[in-house]
Amino acid sequence: MVGQFNPFGGGLMRRPVIAGNWKMYKGVRETVEFVEELKPLVKTCTHCDIIVTAPFTALWVAAEAARESPIAIGAQDLYWEREGAFTGEISAPMVADAGCRYSILGHSERRGYFGETSLEVNKKVRSALQSGLIPIICLGEQLVEWETNQTRKVVEAQFSQSLGGLTPKAVSRTIVAYEPVWAIGTGRTATPEIAQDVHAYIRQLASEAFGYQVAQSLRVLYGGSVKPVNIAGLMAQNDIDGALVGGASLKAESFASIIKFSAK
Ligand code: PEP
Repeated sequence: MVGQFNPFGGGLMRRPVIAGNWKMYKGVRETVEFVEELKPLVKTCTHCDIIVTAPFTALWVAAEAARESPIAIGAQDLYWEREGAFTGEISAPMVADAGCRYSILGHSERRGYFGETSLEVNKKVRSALQSGLIPIICLGEQLVEWETNQTRKVVEAQFSQSLGGLTPKAVSRTIVAYEPVWAIGTGRTATPEIAQDVHAYIRQLASEAFGYQVAQSLRVLYGGSVKPVNIAGLMAQNDIDGALVGGASLKAESFASIIKFSAK
């Protein structure tokens, strides 16, 4: 159960999550250097979950380097079959075996460059959960969809297909990330108010599909040009529970600043 009871009233309190998505950056040596640099910077951070998602080739060394620290390691994708003749693919059990606790799934770069559909994301989510991994399921509209006011329609379709058929219990073991594609790597961030509006909508969808309690404890992260300067404004919003950070997670210092400014 990820939500915690809030003793001061207001029901469930959601523990913030700050996850770095390194994309296709950093080899083995750079990964170890990064984790060693990040560890002392975050050793007293207990207010949030800290996740680094490294390339497959560096997962094991990242997990080894992060031992006895608050940093957890995740993958950026996986394939839904457990094993077999699927040349070049990496399965959920393999990712878990490499020391990961999380996997990003359905990132817009996977959807956009590799044609990944929400139905495929759904298979990956199920496979991740079966291996004890926590999926970070990405949703978000393209620029043209944002400009033509289709955000809710797109997010609703991605949400219902990517999480379709899951039990409420399974959903309580997932994290959702709202990442408007027009804000990823562009330096253009959705304002905290725009992001809050979509996050509240995602929570409403979760409530309708999986029940109020599950929706209240579901962590919904924002992603799209999150930096040390804009994290506090985003985290001040009621339904923003953390961030999925691309570019600014590549330097230990800026990632640590985002982690520190993410206190609710
Ligand atoms: C991402 O990779 O998910 C992302 C949000 O990237 P950036 O922070 O660089 O926009």
